[in-house]
Amino acid sequence: MSGFIPYGRQEIDQADIDAVTAVLQSDFLTTGPAVPRFEQAVMERTGAAHAVAVNSATSALHIACLALEIGPGDMVWTVPNTFVASANCALYCGADVDFVDTDPNTWNLCTEALARKLETTDRKPKVVIPVAFAGRSCDMAAIQALAREHGFLVLEDASHAIGGTHAGRPVGCGDFADITVFSFHPVKIITSGEGGMAVTRDPELARRMERLRSHGVTREVAEMDGPTEGPWYYQQTMLGLNYRMTDIQAALGTSQITRIEDFVSRRHVLAQRYDALLSDLPLQRPAPDATGDRSALHLYPVVVDPGRRKEIFERLRSRGIGVQVHYIPVHLHPWYKKMGFAPGDFPQAEAYYAGAISLPLFPALSEADQDKVLAELTAAL
Ligand SMILES: *Cc1c(COP(=O)(O)O)cnc(C)c1O
Repeated sequence: MSGFIPYGRQEIDQADIDAVTAVLQSDFLTTGPAVPRFEQAVMERTGAAHAVAVNSATSALHIACLALEIGPGDMVWTVPNTFVASANCALYCGADVDFVDTDPNTWNLCTEALARKLETTDRKPKVVIPVAFAGRSCDMAAIQALAREHGFLVLEDASHAIGGTHAGRPVGCGDFADITVFSFHPVKIITSGEGGMAVTRDPELARRMERLRSHGVTREVAEMDGPTEGPWYYQQTMLGLNYRMTDIQAALGTSQITRIEDFVSRRHVLAQRYDALLSDLPLQRPAPDATGDRSALHLYPVVVDPGRRKEIFERLRSRGIGVQVHYIPVHLHPWYKKMGFAPGDFPQAEAYYAGAISLPLFPALSEADQDKVLAELTAAL
């Protein structure tokens, strides 16, 4: 690749193109046989018992909240260091949102902060949404233990983390969360163009999410109120949405997931090179994987001197390095400030954000490109 180096980029090969072309020549464009095939592939890869494919991870988070019966009067907690979708999903349901501060080393939900907040709050959450930031799992076993103690449900936003491992188990296996959500946006680990999936071990949650993705309509006689009126008959039994994934997207996702191990391994090779080559520079690098864990390494963020972040960022951009910042703390967006959140509410997430720069990381990043990133970053520092 020459010229501009983006921070992330999809990796499309001829097999992907052939898979999508085959769907275009088939009878189905929207949900047909390719969607259950993609769901099956994700279940095999993650060990999940049930999978519900939808048109984005945002949609998956929304139907997951609805399936967990989040509504007005309920409280949902997530982290400030995430994409806004992790919090918006609760607002869609009319619930209230609050945040748990992040850990200064992992930049993930701080389990101690969660435990403290649970002990001191007068409004316990119905659901907590931990986010596997940059592909690194939160301490899901500790969160699960707190969930049992305090009686909340766990919705894991693993938009960055398909292909990762936690405690020796694939992310999404169902051991540590009631529902786990993946994103297949092109910058993520694998892509379906746009797309998302919710996985769960609970058949009832899966059944609800399947109906919610398609208008709340069922054709199953067992789910109907009263008898069927004939072969044409269906009933709307809940208020659902149209969040269906197309066969075009599913075919691309199914083709992509066959290479997921290559993608994640390549990300690890590149991240190890960054680790080694950046070790003498005045910046904070991502923490190494916890024992038993393997990050999917969606991102490679570093933290520089906050006083120089803007200058360093602008300089890298001017040299064709597509750095990004992940994430502006959610509570500092105007929409959330209107609810009463203010700077200083979550000091760790804010301190991380003040110095954060995500360096380019994607499977097709060449070592020459990476060397250019390193040279420009070293010069900027
Ligand atoms: C990308 C992302 C989402 C939303 O994914 P879409 O598939 O684009 O809707 C949600 N949460 C996090 C943490 C993300 O990075």
